[in-house]
This record gives sequence, structure tokens and C-alpha cells, in this order.
Amino acid sequence: MQDLPNFIPKLVTRNSQGELKIIWSDEKECVYNLRKLRALCQCALCRHELTGERLVKLEDIPENINLLKAETVGNYALHFTWSDTHTTGIYSFDYLRSLCN
Ligand SMILES: [Zn+2]
Repeated sequence: MQDLPNFIPKLVTRNSQGELKIIWSDEKECVYNLRKLRALCQCALCRHELTGERLVKLEDIPENINLLKAETVGNYALHFTWSDTHTTGIYSFDYLRSLCN
């Protein structure tokens, strides 16, 4: 049973630079650089499940990485489909929110 997230995205969109923009349920606006976001993927292909070691690093990500799709998973996460054919990344709302200052 997943704890309910503290904040929920109200709007998931792109800004004029093509970066991911999320407007949260408390009206906070967060902008995410796509390449950095891709490098922060928490899936087992990108991050070792036991050691936490990053298996895919920022320099491994194409400069022109694009986000093809962002879909809600249940009521706790976004699933991203990336242009480098990576499709297994699920970013919890809490994790996305923690990346935003
Ligand atoms: Zn991944």
C-alpha cells in the first residue's frame, strides 16, 4: 500500500525552452531540465537496486534527449517515455517534488 503523496501535479506541460514544467496542487511551479531528469531515473536499468550506484550517467544521455510521453501511474507517479527508447522510468510525485527547489 502506497502512502498518498503530499503534492499532486495539477498540470504537466512544457515551457518555451522545451523543459518539463509541472504545476503542483499547491500552485508551486517546477521546471525540470530533460537531460538531467532522464539521468535521475530511478529504475533498475539506470540505478542499481541494491547499491544505488548510477548505471546510466548524465554523460550517457544524448544532448538532445526528448520526452515523448508523460503518463500518470495510479495516484502517485509519472511514467516517462524518452526519445532514447528508455521506457521503464517511473518517477513518484514525491521524488519529482524533491528535485524541485
Ligand atoms: Zn531508467
